[in-house]
Amino acid sequence: MSSIYIPKRALFIYAHPDDIEFGVAGTAALWAKNGCAVKYIVITDGNIGSHEEGMTTQKLAEIRRAEQTAAAEHVGATVKFLGYDDGVLQPTLELRRDLVREIRAHRASVVVCGDPRAFFPRDTYINHPDHRAAATAAVEACFPATNSPLIFPELINEGFAPHDINYVYISHPIDGANCYVDISETVGLKIEALKLHKSQMGDWDPTERILEWSAEIGRKVDFKHAERYRRITLKELLPPEDE
Ligand SMILES: [Zn+2]
Repeated sequence: MSSIYIPKRALFIYAHPDDIEFGVAGTAALWAKNGCAVKYIVITDGNIGSHEEGMTTQKLAEIRRAEQTAAAEHVGATVKFLGYDDGVLQPTLELRRDLVREIRAHRASVVVCGDPRAFFPRDTYINHPDHRAAATAAVEACFPATNSPLIFPELINEGFAPHDINYVYISHPIDGANCYVDISETVGLKIEALKLHKSQMGDWDPTERILEWSAEIGRKVDFKHAERYRRITLKELLPPEDE
């Protein structure tokens, strides 16, 4: 199925600065361009991703937050950092509660996150444990906690009422892809946003790689460039979207 659905409010939940730009920023840019309130939740500061001499985790956190903020702004999104430590993320109840708070605060009709099942998605790649932890916590926050008043009752005292999410978009699903987003008009923005992560790119120009990946996915559904999801419906929306 192809999708031209534009949510009203979308929350993208990922572990590290640059995860969104590598994976799903074409979708974020497309939705933002068409009036969706797009917000990124970046759980860690990505502050161990450097081999540079003299670099400290604190300095690196500052750099990576600034890069991620610029990358979000470039596609019309806002970003919030949760400040968890990079490299040792766990899908704890504390993280789940923090994510429920953010989903309710943004009143997200859509949550976009990774696939918690992706342990070794290819023969040449073990998924970063932080990615799995972030994806697990995000999916577990979406259901059933976000619309349950009796789970995390303290959030209600903080002013965050239970909320219904319509769809969860699982990016890079290991199987069951059922939703392709046509990013042909935003893949350029996606590449520009990725390049803003200068501390990670070094001399590498990601243009070719991103164009290849998105073209390969697009071929399956006759889009020039696409991003692919397994879309989970929690509460079907009857068009037009009504809020
Ligand atoms: Zn990552």
